[in-house]
Amino acid sequence: MIGLSDSIEAQQRLRGHILETPLLRVPALDSVAGCQVYLKAENLQLTGSFKIRGAMNSLLQLTAEQRRAGVVTASSGNHAKAVSWAASKLSLDVHVVMPHNPNPSKLEAIRALGATVLFAGTASSERAAKARELQAMGKVLVHSHADEAVIAGQGTIGLEIVEACPQIDTIVVPVGGGGLISGIATAIKGLSNQIKVVGVEPSGAPRYTESLKSGFPVTLGHVDTIADGTRCDHADPGNYRRIQEMVDEITLVDEESIKAALRACVLDAKIIAEPSSCLGLASAMSKTLSVDTHEKVCFVITGGNNDIQMLKSLL
Ligand SMILES: *Cc1c(COP(=O)(O)O)cnc(C)c1O
Repeated sequence: MIGLSDSIEAQQRLRGHILETPLLRVPALDSVAGCQVYLKAENLQLTGSFKIRGAMNSLLQLTAEQRRAGVVTASSGNHAKAVSWAASKLSLDVHVVMPHNPNPSKLEAIRALGATVLFAGTASSERAAKARELQAMGKVLVHSHADEAVIAGQGTIGLEIVEACPQIDTIVVPVGGGGLISGIATAIKGLSNQIKVVGVEPSGAPRYTESLKSGFPVTLGHVDTIADGTRCDHADPGNYRRIQEMVDEITLVDEESIKAALRACVLDAKIIAEPSSCLGLASAMSKTLSVDTHEKVCFVITGGNNDIQMLKSLL
């Protein structure tokens, strides 16, 4: 079981390997969000998303033997970029399993980091199976959200927020596989019960909302959302338990609200955010999350890796 101390250790381990991103006070968004808006700018993090925290924390703890064997991951997005980047910094061999129809710019970026790319199917379950084959051959599997070192690494975001603004009332976190919110909630609740941690899922991918209703971790039959960093189709049992125990509330946002929040981020806050990173702001703007005008609310801007054509079409 992981706790606050794992994120404190991760923070020390990661020093010099990642950036401490700014916590921005953004009054320009106060009236649309209905609270005092703070943005944790992980779009400015190395590799363009927070995923480098977990990936680097995991790779820095490998044994000499594991380092020789190399690593494998099955993500096609920000996690794969982060693992490839961290592996290249640490001179480790890395394999990334991608779908047969990859996003060409992501494929290019991952190859440019020196990763060996393997293709397997179009469903995430097919890619996971391929990654497990490589794991069986001795490679170290670095999972994007069901790995304790990864989760503890993501928790360092919570520590930085409280260090920068000890008076923060609420932290709002986009939820995909649930590793990010598990890490942040573990760190925050270890520090203080006064700070609320809220999760937001797209209504097109409500795996933890449905799991909390059912009382067990569910797999969705279908997911569809513009927020591609949160398209995971199932609730991980460990993260489900952490969310159930430590997260104060999980809320949903629709696609139009995500697009409106992205426009507000870019045009009003002047922050280049990707759709997945706007779920929190979307929940405050569309009132699926109730906040108070005096409340200091931190929205975690999880990444800024936009497809430029898609971004243009949304503005
Ligand atoms: C991975 C990711 C998320 C979701 O994180 P989980 O740990 O899967 O819940 C949100 N936003 C962005 C930009 C991501 O890359």
